[in-house]
Amino acid sequence: MNAETGTSAQTGTRAQTGTTADWLQRYDDSAITVFGVPGLVLDHGSGCTVWDVEGRAYLDLLSGIAVNSLGHAHPDLVAALSRQVGQLVHVSNFFTTPAQVSAAERVLELAAAPPGSGVFFCNSGSEAVEAAIKLSRRTGRSRIVALEGAFHGRTTGAVALTHKAAYRDPFEPLIPDVHHVPPDDVGALRAALDERTAMLILEPVQGEAGVRPLSTDYLRAARELTTEVGALLVVDEIQTGIARTGSWFAHQQRGIVPDAMTLAKGLGGGVPIGALVTFGPEVTGLLAAGQHGSTFGGNPLACAAALTVLDTIERDGLVAHAQRAGDRLARAITALEHPMVREIRGRGLLRAIALREPCAAAVALAAREAGFLVNPVAPDAIRLAPPLVVTDDELDRLVTALPTILDSAAARSTP
Ligand SMILES: *Cc1c(COP(=O)(O)O)cnc(C)c1O
Repeated sequence: MNAETGTSAQTGTRAQTGTTADWLQRYDDSAITVFGVPGLVLDHGSGCTVWDVEGRAYLDLLSGIAVNSLGHAHPDLVAALSRQVGQLVHVSNFFTTPAQVSAAERVLELAAAPPGSGVFFCNSGSEAVEAAIKLSRRTGRSRIVALEGAFHGRTTGAVALTHKAAYRDPFEPLIPDVHHVPPDDVGALRAALDERTAMLILEPVQGEAGVRPLSTDYLRAARELTTEVGALLVVDEIQTGIARTGSWFAHQQRGIVPDAMTLAKGLGGGVPIGALVTFGPEVTGLLAAGQHGSTFGGNPLACAAALTVLDTIERDGLVAHAQRAGDRLARAITALEHPMVREIRGRGLLRAIALREPCAAAVALAAREAGFLVNPVAPDAIRLAPPLVVTDDELDRLVTALPTILDSAAARSTP
């Protein structure tokens, strides 16, 4: 599949000409290059396959970092967005739209949120975290506890909650009174939480830390301890939500109800949208009229995308599919018993192949050359977050190719 040309009806028509090298040169000349050199110049996609500008096809097992829930060019999303574009794209928050109201209602229903809960729509994950920070400030407290390894975004508020020093240090001073504690350590959490704490924020499965699920005991302790001191428990489900881990939201598998939840990534199927969800009237009431806002947030185009994503996931049984296909994939990779693989982590269709050596970058490169897009999320871990519509056959293609990919990466990274 590596050298297929993307020009038939089935593969879509290539929209652009020009070589990868040309486009990368123009990228380098025109972008603020915070992302380094992009791996590919992509042109179009269909289902779980994307094609680059030179017509090479790749099986997309990352889906734009757990964003393209329905894959690429899903017919229902194309139809819904086309319809909405011809109807209304934006109206501002002086007004609302049926799409916005319906999307909020659907999110609350799927979150099993009690009466009096609410949704604030924004445009990205970081913005959802910013809204959570402001919500927590309205408790009258300012102390925030987050976890080591946490990723909560890159805006100046959200990045203060993110743990990686390289993301934070160049931008100090950030918001004060943020404390990071080691994950899955109930003693450390108890010691960090007190009557000054506004919120504890955590990812049920730490995504950027290398796909590391927190233990159920820890999540339950987090619920109890925050309740004891009157702090908000905020689950950041930006990566884990929207069926990704085999339930609508990852915290639902662990029997906890948070005070608030952040969403983004998979919610819009690729169209930018984020959300802060507040559980119950007391938390919802913390933010009063005029205390927060967004020009684009909740626009009908993004909300139509979210509605279609949620409806399609439900109609096509993709929550159960994510669980079953993810478990099957994990079993199949484990069964390879490849000497470079230490373990498979994660839940549903959010997985990491943990490697014994720090050669994830070489593995991702070898995978790409073999026609698979995966992500070296850590020096020793490959992240897989395929579209929720991925088939067993597509995942089997990776499993079949994986030994050769791993062996060629090993050959390359050994001097
Ligand atoms: C991606 C991510 C964010 C940030 O989202 P952006 O849309 O990039 O701002 C925040 N939290 C988690 C858990 C994420 O995975």
